Amino acid sequence: MESNETSNSILNFENSKANFIEGYSSMLTFQPVVPIQKHSISTTSTVPLYEKLKNWNIQGIEHQNLRTEIFKVLGNKQLFYSDLDASKEQQRLNTLKQLQSLLSEIFGKDLIHISDIKDDPSKILALIDCLSQFDDSSLLTKLVVNNYLFGAAVYNLGTERHHKLLPEIECGKLLGCFAMTELGHGSNVRSLETTATYDPKTDEFIMNTPVRTATKWWIGNAAHAVVASVFARLILDGKDHEVHCFLVPLRKRNGIDLLPGVKIGDVGPKFGLNGVDNGWIQFDQVRIPSSSLLDKFGSVTNGVYSSPISNPSRRFANILAQMITGRISISFGTIRSFKTALVIATRYALKRLQFGPSTNGPEIPIMEYPTHQLEIMPMIATTYAYDAIKLYLARRFMERQDENEIHVLASGLKAVLSHYITVSILELRRMCGGHGYSSNSKLHRLLSSVDVGRTFEGDNTLLLQQVAKDLLTQFKKEYTSNKFTGTLKYLSKNTSLLLSGLNPYTTNRRDESHLLSFQFLLDSMEFRSSKLLIQSAQLVSKNYNKTKNSFIAWNQSLETLLHLARAHTETMIISRFIESINNEKDAETKKILTKLCQLYGLYRIRMDFEFYRNSNYLKKGKARAIIKLIQELCADLAQNAALLVKGFGNEESLIDSPLGLEDGDLYDNICKRVGLFSDKNYPEPILKSKL
Ligand SMILES: Cc1cc2nc3c(=O)[nH]c(=O)nc-3n(C[C@H](O)[C@H](O)[C@H](O)COP(=O)(O)OP(=O)(O)OC[C@H]3O[C@@H](n4cnc5c(N)ncnc54)[C@H](O)[C@@H]3O)c2cc1C
Repeated sequence: MESNETSNSILNFENSKANFIEGYSSMLTFQPVVPIQKHSISTTSTVPLYEKLKNWNIQGIEHQNLRTEIFKVLGNKQLFYSDLDASKEQQRLNTLKQLQSLLSEIFGKDLIHISDIKDDPSKILALIDCLSQFDDSSLLTKLVVNNYLFGAAVYNLGTERHHKLLPEIECGKLLGCFAMTELGHGSNVRSLETTATYDPKTDEFIMNTPVRTATKWWIGNAAHAVVASVFARLILDGKDHEVHCFLVPLRKRNGIDLLPGVKIGDVGPKFGLNGVDNGWIQFDQVRIPSSSLLDKFGSVTNGVYSSPISNPSRRFANILAQMITGRISISFGTIRSFKTALVIATRYALKRLQFGPSTNGPEIPIMEYPTHQLEIMPMIATTYAYDAIKLYLARRFMERQDENEIHVLASGLKAVLSHYITVSILELRRMCGGHGYSSNSKLHRLLSSVDVGRTFEGDNTLLLQQVAKDLLTQFKKEYTSNKFTGTLKYLSKNTSLLLSGLNPYTTNRRDESHLLSFQFLLDSMEFRSSKLLIQSAQLVSKNYNKTKNSFIAWNQSLETLLHLARAHTETMIISRFIESINNEKDAETKKILTKLCQLYGLYRIRMDFEFYRNSNYLKKGKARAIIKLIQELCADLAQNAALLVKGFGNEESLIDSPLGLEDGDLYDNICKRVGLFSDKNYPEPILKSKL
């Protein structure tokens, strides 16, 4: 800057800008807004309501001791921090060190084991719930890859001789990776091309990458793994016994040098999760002993193949079903990430002031704008609904009575919630304005970590198709007896309604007592699922009659099938939310959860007005009444927004976003984070880059 320049002369447009803003502000007509009061729900109990909510959303997966120990480990800020400016290599090194510390401190001290997949899955869910609060989800991903994909493959697909490896795996002494996906196949894994050919002369398998598309791709832990669980086609006597899983050593024990015939490289930088070393792996005629086959569902003895499940499709489905822990972990982790994003955006909205009724008077918090409330409050309500179904899934996962129900629910939930949460976090970013766009807000990290949850552990579209397929199979089985059981019970209630037509009194009824009743909310959701199920069955059958090809017929019906799968999953969510509220003993908790459930239910109906209006389920006036009630519920619940997000029970020390800190002045927190007031200019290399 020349010496005769002054700030004023450089910024000589400032006055005109101020005038513009003033003029703009006076053009705005303000909606009547209700000032937000903190915690407007009066409480008579000594336990604060947020504490009760916090306990409500971890019922059955508390494990307080385990949680305390995990938070203690994460509290070591010298090791557990995420450096936004670090290179990809440095991030990976940090994540590796964090992983090893965590595994030795938590698994190494017997607080939890891989075998808890069967012994006590609630511990795993508590672990995921805690770890997903840590700033960088690379750590959680790497842990899931090592213990709940690689480790789970050894535990679930292997037999006793393989289980001996578990103690070393779980405490990080033997790092592994899960090598299923290939360059050419990720969803259609039944068509994987890597081969494991049995050699009877040496009683070995020869692991090979016969074509480029067979290269294992996206493999997490590829840089550090000593062993891989590799999915490959088992070839014996020239016969292809389809895909099985094998343990293949990749490196020497030093964890660095590759073994002969193994090639490994990196797949490069990613949208996020750059602390995870995702790589590619190729095998060139690598020999492994026949005992390396994880042989629970298929084995080779004296050169003869046998399996307890003779049907190859069922066998492969069984192999894949064993990896359910990874899928459930994603749902649990994603819900927690959403909670973190909501804590950040809500606290920001309560502290950030913009505009006011008069130009000179006080400004109002952005949370008071109805537009803000209409976005954020349904998200908060949805999170509580997700907690209810999450806890139900956890319970069913622990009981292990109906594997099929768990599979369908886990698949549907992962697809529905990872999608909703991803688009919602993007919206929350916008709602935090420019400050939300800063990496310091943490929102972009949360976004990239939940976004990938739509792809890995099963692409969402594929998972929804599995849900639809299961529903149609069950429907076909139970249709002839006209007795619908299990998850399809709701069909019995709705078949007569669908046949005889809807009652005009009900389709027009718009009084609050009706619209806010759990009965109406549940009936609406069940009606939608029932109708879509019948429509789907008719459509697939019609398309099949036209084409005589079930693959084409299915694909021609996909849009309706996916709608069905989402509708069914949402029906499960609301029914479990209602059930859990009905079982709630504490009046104060019940009262606020009831409002959240009403908002969640009406909002879901609102999101699918097209369906309800086309089905004549709602007359125009009723639809309008629903919109009005949603607005009222949002305004009402917004009064308790701070309390509701505190009720998520996030560990405050891990929020780590200046926008979302509970205490302190918003601008102090933001300025501290960027190092303002430190007298520092930009670093030299950046300044010189102008020359
Ligand atoms: C960060 C990251 C980490 C990963 N880590 C691992 C790992 O450690 N180990 C491992 O084995 N894998 C890993 N994966 C791979 C992951 O599991 C796959 O990417 C995932 O299963 C999806 O497969 P795909 O990429 O081949 O997608 P594709 O199957 O090619 O899907 C692409 C698109 O096509 C659509 N599509 C495909 N088939 C159909 C159909 N029948 N009907 C309608 N639409 C269809 C999908 O919906 C999707 O939109 C990782 C991936 C990522 C991104």
